[in-house]
Amino acid sequence: MKQIIVIGGGAAGLMAAVIAGREGARVILLEKMNMVGKKMGITGKGRCNITNNADMTEFIKNTPGNGKFLYGAYERFSNEDLLELLHSWGLKTKVERGGRVFPESDSALEVRNTFMKILKKYNVQVHLNEPVTSITVKDDRVVGVTTDKEQYACDAAIICTGGASYPLTGSTGDGYTLAKKIGHTITDIRPSLVPIVTEESWVKDIMGLSLRNVEVSVISKNKVQAKQFGEMMFTHFGLTGPTILSLSHTVGKLLRKKNPQITIEINLKPALTAEVLDKRLQKDFDLYSKKQLANGMKDLLPVNLIPIVIKLAELDPSKPINQITKEERLRLCHVLQHMTLTVKELRPVAEAIVTAGGISLKEFSPKTMESKLVKGLYGAGEVLDIDAFTGGYNLQAAFSTGYVAAMHAVHGDEE
Ligand SMILES: Cc1cc2nc3c(=O)[nH]c(=O)nc-3n(C[C@H](O)[C@H](O)[C@H](O)COP(=O)(O)OP(=O)(O)OC[C@H]3O[C@@H](n4cnc5c(N)ncnc54)[C@H](O)[C@@H]3O)c2cc1C
Repeated sequence: MKQIIVIGGGAAGLMAAVIAGREGARVILLEKMNMVGKKMGITGKGRCNITNNADMTEFIKNTPGNGKFLYGAYERFSNEDLLELLHSWGLKTKVERGGRVFPESDSALEVRNTFMKILKKYNVQVHLNEPVTSITVKDDRVVGVTTDKEQYACDAAIICTGGASYPLTGSTGDGYTLAKKIGHTITDIRPSLVPIVTEESWVKDIMGLSLRNVEVSVISKNKVQAKQFGEMMFTHFGLTGPTILSLSHTVGKLLRKKNPQITIEINLKPALTAEVLDKRLQKDFDLYSKKQLANGMKDLLPVNLIPIVIKLAELDPSKPINQITKEERLRLCHVLQHMTLTVKELRPVAEAIVTAGGISLKEFSPKTMESKLVKGLYGAGEVLDIDAFTGGYNLQAAFSTGYVAAMHAVHGDEE
């Protein structure tokens, strides 16, 4: 019977531990926090967006951080395989907008509890409050794992320590140190799916304002680098919301270049051409011709956005509408479709939904998740240099890599 140690009890570690147990190994799961799956418990705003019902091509497309590495893992253990497994454990799921899959109960805790139940079923020994401090390698092979309490001998170890975001959930980047100490390379660690800090301080005036059906573009050196359609929100430091979080991967990449000059452009009326928008504005101005400008745009914009748009168009809010010139009206139209903010930086990695960067994938086999440098060492989940967009893609990546690592750790090449 093989002795397998799983380091970290998040999504990847829980999957790896139950699969290694199911396949007949003796499994110890070492978790540094006082419970497993702490991050899992807060995913999807407490509802846990487990996966997506998209096909594999979509999965890869939605994984800007080295999606192609995951082909092998997804072929071996797909979203459908995951759902079949969860259903067989009694967890019911449902599909929502954008193919997002959630537990029917809307409870991330139910997902965590299901894993805890299955850990017991397969006799996985779970050691809580026991952080791993080093991995022992002899003749290029893993022979043991040391914690702050004990030393364990093992045939294989699976590192599933997560990234460096939301450190209160336990993912404090320990895996990078553990892997580095035994010869692995760690790529640049940076935030992804994270709010964006802008230079403009007027965002403070409209903090909390959320916009739907807008088109948000990232522009660098006069070129559109990425675009997203959907929701966004203003905050006291800049911008957040689904479109912004998705664009943050591109912004992060650009920020690493020399003098990137990044701006965010918001098209508040993406469904209208410039001509149609102007006609619409003219119609409103005819209707409110005797009012001041600030009171003539209520049909077009949320009230607290009006003074900002007028200011950006360099107009006087008290100017009577019947005195607005065509040139001034066109200026307003331009701002409505090209509201521009300058990117200062991203919020720190601790506030990111996922960590981009991690243990270099060049040193791992995409088919087995085994290290090419240390036999018997496996990596799974966010600790690897993988990051995806929102939509259930990050958890599926963790589940699939955890599954594949466990299967190979138990069965080797016979699998
Ligand atoms: C607020 C939020 C919401 C999210 N929502 C979703 C969502 O709905 N859908 C989705 O797909 N993704 C979501 N994600 C991303 C997703 O949660 C992660 O990508 C996923 O949890 C990564 O799994 P993991 O097992 O690799 O790491 P983690 O889940 O972070 O688990 C790592 C585990 O390792 C333990 N550990 C760390 N160091 C040590 C050590 N030295 N010794 C022992 N144990 C250690 C940690 O305590 C932790 O339990 C969300 C993330 C956040 C922050």
